[in-house]
Amino acid sequence: SKQSGRGQFSYFAAEMNDKIMLQRKMTEDMRHSLTAGHFFLEYQPRFDTRARQMRSVEALVRWAHPERGRIPPCDFIPLAEQNGLIVPLGDWILDTACEAAANWSGIGVSVNVSPVQFRDTKFVDKVRDCLRRSGLKGELLELEITEGVLLEDAERAIEVLNELKAMGVKLAMDDFGTGYSSLSYLRNFPFDVIKIDRSFISDLGTRESARPIVQAILGLGRALGLSVTAEGVETNEQLALLTADHCSEIQGFLMSRPLSQAKISELIEKVPE
Ligand code: C2E
Ligand code: CA
Ligand code: CA
Ligand code: CA
Repeated sequence: SKQSGRGQFSYFAAEMNDKIMLQRKMTEDMRHSLTAGHFFLEYQPRFDTRARQMRSVEALVRWAHPERGRIPPCDFIPLAEQNGLIVPLGDWILDTACEAAANWSGIGVSVNVSPVQFRDTKFVDKVRDCLRRSGLKGELLELEITEGVLLEDAERAIEVLNELKAMGVKLAMDDFGTGYSSLSYLRNFPFDVIKIDRSFISDLGTRESARPIVQAILGLGRALGLSVTAEGVETNEQLALLTADHCSEIQGFLMSRPLSQAKISELIEKVPE
């Protein structure tokens, strides 16, 4: 009836309103947390497969929300991209990661770059300033980029990527294999590293088709002269298969969870160069 129809409408309207209110509050909280220092970074080691040595770390952002506790990035990065706060947050992440890595004599750092940051016309200048300020060599910074970055304006994307490469910065194609155009991106954009998406690695040892797919990606990397990183390595069986198939780099909970900056510094001091 008309009656119940209206009731339903206002129910949805109320629910939608709640959602908008919550997003507004989270946006306010995010803005506050940015200045109050509630965001922090963890660093997950990436290992050379053959030498079993840590070569670099991936910076991963965390939010210690004052009321809600720790919020995982998948629950706030999309909102930050929507409300634009990913730009100041991303600036802070880049700065913090470069400053940390500048003290790690030789261990590189990779930083995830959101498509929204990439669209920022000042992005290249920010990276340059960041390297200058921290004193980190460009070669020790890697930017992890997903297909989304390259979707919009391919010509501009190539220009930006080449400017970054001119500073020595390395470029990694993140979540490789999950998008629609991974192969054409490899052809058209100057990547140094392919990161095989975790979904392919978690299928290794359980799904018949997983290994030939991983092997094909490794072959592609070899043929194109790119380094290949397997992310999300959780079992010894996965590690054994990746080692047998000559995957250059491995990352995952089996070797190490993401760690604090202090813990990484400790690890580095323990290992002789
Ligand atoms: P990602 O870039 O693919 O990052 C890898 C994610 O996989 C991290 O989750 C990491 O903790 C997790 N991981 C690593 N090894 C394993 C494993 O062996 N098993 C399992 N199950 N997971 C593993 P996290 O930190 O929750 O980050 C999730 C996503 O949030 C990232 O995916 C990335 O897309 C985004 N993100 C995280 N930090 C940043 C950042 O600083 N900036 C931007 N723009 N995005 C970020
Ligand atoms: Ca990543
Ligand atoms: Ca990834
Ligand atoms: Ca991912």
